[in-house]
Amino acid sequence: MNCLICAAAMRFFFSKTFDLPELQSAEYWRCEGCGFVLSRTHAGMSAAEWQRLNHAAHAVYQGTDSDPGDPRWRSRLESQARVLADAGAIGLLEQRGRWLDYACGDGKLSDELKARHGLELRKYDRYMGQGGDYLADAALEPGCFDFVVTTSVFEHLTRRDQFDFIHALVAPQGVLGIHTLVCEAVPWDPAWFYLVPAHCAFHTNQSMALLFAQWGYAASVYSVEAQLWLWFKGDPDRVEAIVEQANRRSDAPRYVFKRGFMDYWKASPLRRQA
Ligand SMILES: [Zn+2]
Repeated sequence: MNCLICAAAMRFFFSKTFDLPELQSAEYWRCEGCGFVLSRTHAGMSAAEWQRLNHAAHAVYQGTDSDPGDPRWRSRLESQARVLADAGAIGLLEQRGRWLDYACGDGKLSDELKARHGLELRKYDRYMGQGGDYLADAALEPGCFDFVVTTSVFEHLTRRDQFDFIHALVAPQGVLGIHTLVCEAVPWDPAWFYLVPAHCAFHTNQSMALLFAQWGYAASVYSVEAQLWLWFKGDPDRVEAIVEQANRRSDAPRYVFKRGFMDYWKASPLRRQA
């Protein structure tokens, strides 16, 4: 098996027993080049097996206000809405542009942005909904969104074309937002908290930096409070100037800027981010 990020060889890393009806155990493989880890078990599932597993993992909390496996879910969502609204107000994001939440689940981030901030973040989810206020598959034209955000999506993908599809939705001068866990090195530890049944892809700073460069992004900004990256294709100087000015405010969201991928989580790979 070769790495879907850098094409280097992947080697068996460890396996983990789940003993669930949908998932007995999973075998994780690690890339010798960029450290990206993928579950070969998940990657080999049929569409029906995949759907059964994801349904079992997500149906328990979607549509409610809590997730027993992620107690910070609700407050992080509010932070993300607040930070995105602020990013629109200060010009990091095009406030009146077309915004999309890709794989939005039950669409709480959109609902929060509309209710509290009066902003429209369109909803799309292949499994949760078509129709109503969800976009249909046909609405996902390449390059037609000024801002595409994915929260807790990158850890559920098994194929390179799934990553590329998300990036392709972003307009030529648009912004990609990502909330996922990124660490310096995935720990060799079947007890690692992030190895839940539905997670199958585990990124490192190096694998994210490679994706960032392969897709042609120029600068990135990280919000610690929202645990959210914004990747920019446009002029890095402009982004840096906006961030510098924004960080002089008091009692407002703060941002960390970097040319290239902002590898914020380096010191403590086991620290809980997600
Ligand atoms: Zn790799």
